[in-house]
Amino acid sequence: MALIISGIDVSKGIAIGNVHLLNRGAPEVFEHKLKKDEIESEVERFQKAVDEASNHLRGIRDTIPKDTSTDVAAFIDSHILMLKDSMLRKVPVGIIRKQRCNAEWALKIQHDKLISTFEQMEDDYLRTRVNDVGHVINLIQQILKDRQYAVQIDAQPLKGRIIVADDLTPADTVLMQTQSIAGFITELGGPLSHTAILARSLGIPAVVGVQGARSLLRQEERIIIDGSSGMVLAGADQKTIQSYRMRQRKEKEARRKLRALRDVSARTRDGRRISLQANIELAEDMIALRQSGADGVGLYRTEFLYIDREEPADEAEQLNAYRTIIRALKGKPLTIRTLDLGAEKEFDPHFQGPLTQNPALGLRAIRRSLKDIDLFKQQLRAILRASSYGPVRILLPMVTSHAELVQSLSILGQAKQELESEQRSYDQNIPIGAMIEVPAAALSAHIFAKQLSFLSIGTNDLIQYTLAIDRIDDQVNYLYDPLHPSVLKLVDLTLRAGRHAKIPVAMCGEMAGDPRYTRLLLGLGLQEFSTHPSNLLEIKQIVNRSRISELEKPARRILNTTLPARITSLVDSLND
Ligand code: PEP
Ligand code: MG
Repeated sequence: MALIISGIDVSKGIAIGNVHLLNRGAPEVFEHKLKKDEIESEVERFQKAVDEASNHLRGIRDTIPKDTSTDVAAFIDSHILMLKDSMLRKVPVGIIRKQRCNAEWALKIQHDKLISTFEQMEDDYLRTRVNDVGHVINLIQQILKDRQYAVQIDAQPLKGRIIVADDLTPADTVLMQTQSIAGFITELGGPLSHTAILARSLGIPAVVGVQGARSLLRQEERIIIDGSSGMVLAGADQKTIQSYRMRQRKEKEARRKLRALRDVSARTRDGRRISLQANIELAEDMIALRQSGADGVGLYRTEFLYIDREEPADEAEQLNAYRTIIRALKGKPLTIRTLDLGAEKEFDPHFQGPLTQNPALGLRAIRRSLKDIDLFKQQLRAILRASSYGPVRILLPMVTSHAELVQSLSILGQAKQELESEQRSYDQNIPIGAMIEVPAAALSAHIFAKQLSFLSIGTNDLIQYTLAIDRIDDQVNYLYDPLHPSVLKLVDLTLRAGRHAKIPVAMCGEMAGDPRYTRLLLGLGLQEFSTHPSNLLEIKQIVNRSRISELEKPARRILNTTLPARITSLVDSLND
């Protein structure tokens, strides 16, 4: 009988193979009181285990094939770094000495403490870092237990198997990839865990968060996993397996074709070069960016430098973060958006902003920055300083009025002057642009364009504000429509303003990454798309198969149509 279980889809692709159950739960740990003269030898035992864990990870890092993205090694390095951190190297030693307990127990106390600290974090990404701490602590515990941790996966024939485990560490994932496993399922983990990110980057189909997977699936039974839908299918009949094999072949072929486009530039059939850039939030996104062959970063959201932390990142930390990305981009441009903090994304609980009923209409983005000029100037200084390391553009979020633009440019001027008097270098011609995210900005785009080097249409907010739909309210989601005639008119108006002022106009909202709208946007004259890296190759495929001269007229027709059903059918026929 067939059994279907579902989990979280974290890495696309279909895998068909036999189950290999991996039972490696964290070892059970007991407290054991030490005599005074046993304490120092226990400390030594602990320190040796930490060193051994570090050597173990270094050994795995050395097995990574040379042609694998360097970022894969970076994940293992982040675990090696944790082993150097005092939270794992020193604090447990203090606990052993103070509580006179065994190393395993001291480590458990520290683990519990770290977990509760991480779990209080509001940011999803940071919260999932607790898994990494768990992986590293588990490794030390295993070594303390039997001194020969080394998950012996490399001793077993795993080729073509689907690994089913409670959890996998990035190190396990790397080892498995060198063994050509077909895919993996874990009971724990989420889409943002390092293991999930690695699976995507190594192209291994994976489903995580499958509760009870190890008791529901049997060793060696044949199963199918669909990494796109998060489905696990056991006991499928031959016909079903055949149909999945067919899908697997088709998907593989489609992925191969897309991958082959990575180093090809985006150019329409009639020779127009289209810039395809990536939206990023964290340095880790650079893995996906590289695999997408992006022409640069069209939107770097900098909020993570401010929220879910005690203090916002200072100028030096920001400069460091920007410089890391600039170096990784190797000459490709980086567009840094200044802070888009809003009432619901506030880092400072004491900030004296008024309580507001409508945060999206409140003190957010550029309005918030202009209320805290020191903070804003500090970010501008960091961006300016970063601009001496590579091509950087500054992007101002949610500009609505001309006065906001004038004030922002004046603060930028002050920041430049300060740097000059401190004899610090920066790009004197750094381009500055504004996001077009509110209808007022689109209607004023021709005025903004006179003072700026570029514009970038943020459709996520533009649609929210044009159609008066809270973008995070599920109840009105059905009204969220990028093809609404008013939205299309505002997009067109902005593109025209850019053409008239001879400045580039990009689009960095989700609409730019949706293949259904690519040909329409090309027809309207968009030449710079910025979206999540995972969408870029598909967009490139459409661009390279299109001829702008054939799209302009139908796009105009869509623009002049008011009936939603008619617009949808015209867009469909444009895509046929
Ligand atoms: C947008 O509004 O389209 C955009 C890209 O900005 P964010 O999604 O960060 O608000
Ligand atoms: Mg926005």
